[in-house]
Amino acid sequence: MTAIETFKQRPSAAACDRPEGAFALASEPRYVASSSQSPGPTMYPKPQSSLRPNTYEFESLPLVKPTGFREYDARWLFPDEINLMGVQALGLGIGTLVHEMGVRPDLVTGHDFRGYSSSIKYALVSGMMAAGLRVKDIGLALSPMAYFGQFELDCPCVAMVTASHNDNGWTGVKMGANRPMTFGPDEMGRLAEIVLNAAFKLRPGGAYEFVANFPERYIADLTNRPKIKRKLKVVAACGNGTAGAFAPRVLEMIGCEVVPLDAELDYTFPNYNPNPEDLKMLHAMADRVIETQADVGLGFDGDGDRCGVVDNDGEEIFADKIGVMLARDLSQLHPNSTFVVDVKSTGLFVTDPELQKHGVKADYWKTGHSYIKRRVNELNALAGFEKSGHFFFNKPVGRGYDDGLLTAIAIVEMLDRNPGKSMAELYQALPKTWGSPTMAPRCADEVKYQVVERVVKRFTAMKAAGQRFAGQGIRDLVTVNGVRVVADDGTWGLVRASSNKPELVVVVESPVSEARMRETFQAVDTVLRENPEVGAYNQTI
Ligand SMILES: [Zn+2]
Repeated sequence: MTAIETFKQRPSAAACDRPEGAFALASEPRYVASSSQSPGPTMYPKPQSSLRPNTYEFESLPLVKPTGFREYDARWLFPDEINLMGVQALGLGIGTLVHEMGVRPDLVTGHDFRGYSSSIKYALVSGMMAAGLRVKDIGLALSPMAYFGQFELDCPCVAMVTASHNDNGWTGVKMGANRPMTFGPDEMGRLAEIVLNAAFKLRPGGAYEFVANFPERYIADLTNRPKIKRKLKVVAACGNGTAGAFAPRVLEMIGCEVVPLDAELDYTFPNYNPNPEDLKMLHAMADRVIETQADVGLGFDGDGDRCGVVDNDGEEIFADKIGVMLARDLSQLHPNSTFVVDVKSTGLFVTDPELQKHGVKADYWKTGHSYIKRRVNELNALAGFEKSGHFFFNKPVGRGYDDGLLTAIAIVEMLDRNPGKSMAELYQALPKTWGSPTMAPRCADEVKYQVVERVVKRFTAMKAAGQRFAGQGIRDLVTVNGVRVVADDGTWGLVRASSNKPELVVVVESPVSEARMRETFQAVDTVLRENPEVGAYNQTI
């Protein structure tokens, strides 16, 4: 392993390559970065918000579309929204931010299986080194492998190049500087500010090291457990994404008979995107489960931090119900545990008598994997379940980050601990609930947050005044993300603003009856209709 201690500028477009008549940049400052330079503001050019590929400017200036900075990670279309110099600028920004946060500048990086991911990573690494980060590169990897690397290689920071389940053409980076957490809106906001204003600080001390055979260390860590005793046939669906290189092997090593499905790496994604929320992938999993009479189908997303499940009948089980099943299983081993659950999830975490028997405490929290992960850590919960399929197992089950392979192992071990029951039977053993689909009434972006605020206030006042809600007392109000009103019998309704559309989001569920679900929907809708800004639903019950 060699540490390269100096950083060299990427060759820039030679003047003779410039097409005739192209705009020549008069006096753009030259970027000279080396690790011997002392800290200080750099003259690195300010990223542009749009540039046309195949032009002089595109090859001479960083392109970073501001919308790529999202609440808890970053995603861009490459090369339309970010070019390699823009990725380098992002690396400079990450290094600058890590130092600003006062964190030890050791960082793990890796890349997912896409045609351009490794070039993105090397551009990112060059920027991070110039900003004084000591980079350990684990090569082709899943996101949870990079998170594991933060512990295994003792690095506080991570920058994993991945666009997760997104279409080909997308790239992105998942970042963190406080394991096992990833960046939230504060860090992402500051990162965007640094990058878009070119407020970089170059520092000496940057280094690069390639960590050989890292996947073996990750796999050894995951599979260092007793083999399962039950004979289980498991479909491992990978959508031709990165997980294909690791998931079937891990499941085999813990003692499963594995039926691989689209496990050959192919970054053209010839069958469907590696996304277990995608119906195409779910159908393929269901077909293969039925055809091979498998016990369960487990599907992994492109960067392996999520796992979707179909039972032995080929039926999809939604992530929140899988969460309840795992909570039932884990709370037998670890009574009186806390589970963090996102507000869109089933109310069974509170009302299920099995969970009550084991003293389970449920904490409903803000939707978004970064929020749930943070909350699990804050409360020292045993696990956190996000409805999109990000599961966070804390000590002693996991290290607090989302790992789709560990989720798969938890499901397999649950089946192993219930040898007389199929996956479908374990699911049917849950109390029945009557749930609505996600219903979205129109509401303009400019007013939707104020409307939700009024709705929250209205319900808060109702609870304070002891008023009844759909004929019941209000047992609980969760206002971390819109409002989730919970009636005495456990029936609940959620109102929140959509994070990406001019809509509100309304969901209701009852553990009692369909009639109670409908009553609760009427009660929620009555409060909503006090606001003239709320329009028609896309669908209702
Ligand atoms: Zn993912």
